[in-house]
Amino acid sequence: MNSDRYRVKSGRRVSLQDWATDDDGGYSKEEGKALLSSLKSELAEWQERLYAESKQALLIVLQARDAGGKDGTVKHVIGAFNPNGVQIANFKVPSEEELAHDFLWRVHAKVPRRGNIGVFNRSHYEDILVTRVHALIDDKTAEQRSKDIRNFEFLLIDSRTQIIKFYLHISPEEQRQRLQERLNDPTKHWKFNEGDLAERVKWPEYTSAYEDAFATSTKDAPWYVIPADHKWFRDLLIAQVILDRLKEMNPEYPVSTFDPKEIKIPNVKEQ
Ligand code: ATP
Ligand code: MG
Repeated sequence: MNSDRYRVKSGRRVSLQDWATDDDGGYSKEEGKALLSSLKSELAEWQERLYAESKQALLIVLQARDAGGKDGTVKHVIGAFNPNGVQIANFKVPSEEELAHDFLWRVHAKVPRRGNIGVFNRSHYEDILVTRVHALIDDKTAEQRSKDIRNFEFLLIDSRTQIIKFYLHISPEEQRQRLQERLNDPTKHWKFNEGDLAERVKWPEYTSAYEDAFATSTKDAPWYVIPADHKWFRDLLIAQVILDRLKEMNPEYPVSTFDPKEIKIPNVKEQ
């Protein structure tokens, strides 16, 4: 599958209404699920190489509106990896301590160490999204923060941390159905948050904040707009993008410093 058409080309302005939310890439659900299962085995193999090599890291940023599918993506795609090499960070409303620092302070502390895959479930992008929609910052500050974000990401790239940023793109109708489902199903009540309704009515404001944020898409730290109405296609596409990037990073098993033929494992007595 060619995932490149979902990438935001650097310097190109995104108008989200031109990007489909219900694309299925021409696959049936059954085909998509079968394909995902083989991609997951490949993802696991490449992650093992990354972990063994321990010279580079991969940071995956997940951004979406409420019920956009961040948690499902973590479960179904990130779940392919050995948890030992994954660092997941969930970014919530900043604490008083966090607000007493620059906005990247808490974020930098959570970037993955070399050998690991980091997942940001929400991220530093909230600092130019929700904060703008709620007028917690003005346009000038948002502009400054976008520059700071770009520089921060360049720093990570220079330090051998690769970055991929995903926006899970759902339609307002899909969000309505998912929120309604959380009300209908008692086992999903815990996911329902009344505050999400207040965010939902700010749909157009979030759209323009996201469109501005996509200006931070660069060749090395690209944004992907993932059609996410079909959960199975969302998972498939994200898995493909991550796999392509891991292959490009081409982590290698380290060459041993010993000659295995020269080493004899000593016999020991059990008691
Ligand atoms: P869920 O899918 O479980 O609802 P969630 O990511 O929405 O997951 P919540 O605890 O519901 O988690 O919400 C976290 C809230 O924190 C979001 O409304 C988000 O906008 C807010 N938030 C995250 N980062 C920041 C930030 N830097 N400034 C202000 N608000 C933030
Ligand atoms: Mg929420």
